[in-house]
Amino acid sequence: MRILTHLAALICLAGFIVCIFGLNPLPPPPVSLKGGGVYQDRPEENIPLLIEGAVISAVGTTILLIDCWHRRKRGYTSSAMTMLFLVITGYPSGGLTSLLYYLFWGWRPLPPQAVYDFCPACEAASTSESAGNTFTFNFIYGTKLIGGAKACPICRSVIQTKLFMFAFLWIPLGSYRVIRTSGYTYISRRTSAYLPHMLLGLTLTATTVVLMICVITGRLPVR
Ligand SMILES: [Zn+2]
Repeated sequence: MRILTHLAALICLAGFIVCIFGLNPLPPPPVSLKGGGVYQDRPEENIPLLIEGAVISAVGTTILLIDCWHRRKRGYTSSAMTMLFLVITGYPSGGLTSLLYYLFWGWRPLPPQAVYDFCPACEAASTSESAGNTFTFNFIYGTKLIGGAKACPICRSVIQTKLFMFAFLWIPLGSYRVIRTSGYTYISRRTSAYLPHMLLGLTLTATTVVLMICVITGRLPVR
């Protein structure tokens, strides 16, 4: 895989050089007068050569795009957008910007795949029951994992509580040890109910219910 990436950079370079020749082809051979030469203000572009260069560099750029994709999944999250931008603009630039990607990132070996797993202590303090998927509809209705208590220094899992949400009705459904594996994905194991989260949810829900009753009946709870 590494060899292929280095090869892709060479292909991009070759494609880019062909493109340059396509933009500024060599002038025709000098006239056969003794000491003769040709002056051209702006040599014509060589379209077939340009297309050839673009196709060659696109092959290299595609391999670098795959490399960038693998790299992005292994923790280059802060520079992921720059990396992707450089590689994709490699197509219209005849491989120039994908070469920049190679120069800054592509030549480096890929970092090892991150392993997400619970440590023995967290595993012992939880069951294999997962929190499943969560979703919210405009943060008004749905299920959500809240909080981030008791972070484990070994496996970096935190305690989160799954809530059923409907506006300000937050009904706690259970607490889990959760490890985030990306911005949207996580692995989880059920653990005993985490009291502060439960209380937060129940207090908010109780307050909402009382307020709703007040609004419906038109009475204040305290006179
Ligand atoms: Zn742990």
